[in-house]
Amino acid sequence: METITFKIDGRNCTAEKGQNLIEAAKQNGIFIPTLCHFKHLNPLGSCRVCTVKNNGHTIAGCIVKVAEGMNIEVNTPELLDARKAILEMMFVEGNHFCPSCEKSGDCDMQNLAYETGIRYTRFPHLFVDRIVDAHPKRIAVNQNRCIKCQRCIEEVNTNDGYKVFQLTEKGNKTQVSIDYEQEAKLSAAEAEHAMHICPTGSILVKGKTFSKPFGDRAFDYKLGRKDISLNDIKKHTTTKGSKKRIATTSLAGCFGCHMSLLDIDLGLLDVIELVDIHKSPLTDIKKFTERCDIGLIEGGCCNTDNVEVLREFRKNCDILISVGECAIWGGLPAMRNTVPLEACLSEAYLNSMTSEEGETIIPNHEDIPKILNNVYANHDVVKIDYHIPGCPPNANHIWNVVKHILFEEEYTIAYSEFKYD
Ligand code: SF4
Ligand code: SF4
Repeated sequence: METITFKIDGRNCTAEKGQNLIEAAKQNGIFIPTLCHFKHLNPLGSCRVCTVKNNGHTIAGCIVKVAEGMNIEVNTPELLDARKAILEMMFVEGNHFCPSCEKSGDCDMQNLAYETGIRYTRFPHLFVDRIVDAHPKRIAVNQNRCIKCQRCIEEVNTNDGYKVFQLTEKGNKTQVSIDYEQEAKLSAAEAEHAMHICPTGSILVKGKTFSKPFGDRAFDYKLGRKDISLNDIKKHTTTKGSKKRIATTSLAGCFGCHMSLLDIDLGLLDVIELVDIHKSPLTDIKKFTERCDIGLIEGGCCNTDNVEVLREFRKNCDILISVGECAIWGGLPAMRNTVPLEACLSEAYLNSMTSEEGETIIPNHEDIPKILNNVYANHDVVKIDYHIPGCPPNANHIWNVVKHILFEEEYTIAYSEFKYD
């Protein structure tokens, strides 16, 4: 065994010559994130999340074998942004509705999104309509969440050496398919192993989903956060002048974000002392009569009325904040973007379990706002200044963001507050 020295971000490291860079970095206390690389598997280089620079050349870190004198860059601003962009592409390329996903809290990809601070994606969501294959004996595969990392293909074999998963089709139609005959040979433990190695919620074991309660899931943990005290703010208000004004609205959302606002509980007394709440479902003030400092928008745009209200908020508020996933990218209502509007309305009004038998009418009156072809993120319609992620964002988070913006204090968002479940 030959020991070599090399550098990662300027730091001297040692490793065995020819060792995989991800493992070598780990031994030297440096974390290079990856979604496809998995312990003993041959490097796949398929997800590109581990993108690094090797002597100035951009390359997937998992396919690099370390050698004497190498100069590796991992955490430069350029590479951090590239890594984030790659993850964002994965999110928009599939359908990742975390709050309704069985793997939420145990999902490597979701966790990496938290780690890299993704609050919204810079690319438009594709809202693809792929198969959820529940035909196999023990496993169900949701193609909408698959990132084609190929871990399952490499790792999951039957005792007699046959592969259970394989890639079929080509280009952007590529998908992971299951060999039903081989899958039926897997034991319960082997099926669970397949679910575990999948870095997303694509592979699920029937009857084993949601098996862990909140708090016990792989990525449940909390960090402390420095708060801004009421006294600090009061000092600010006395030196900076009068009460601020806030307006809120709910577009295509479930009112969960407003419920979260009410969860501020006793903090609401502070809110009322520091700000006036103007147009809002909380005050039932229906029209803007004064200009507001901040507009909080829950929900995205699914109909013409939502667009009109959103534009009115943009016109009347200095700062506009999208609150929660539906406002940021469409959220759960955007699940309908995967099917044509006509099919969606038929399903809702004519063929649902609660439709009258023989129902033929889809509501359509001039007084009813017209439904848009898709559900849109608010920043697709007007300029949005800030995004508060979460589904819903927690109460203190919303209030902390608002008060720090209003009173021009710096605010660091804690990891634990980015939750989509
Ligand atoms: S928990 Fe993971 S797999 Fe599930 S929707 Fe979120 S990112 Fe996708
Ligand atoms: S099913 Fe899971 S493990 Fe298999 S390729 Fe897709 S994301 Fe990777």
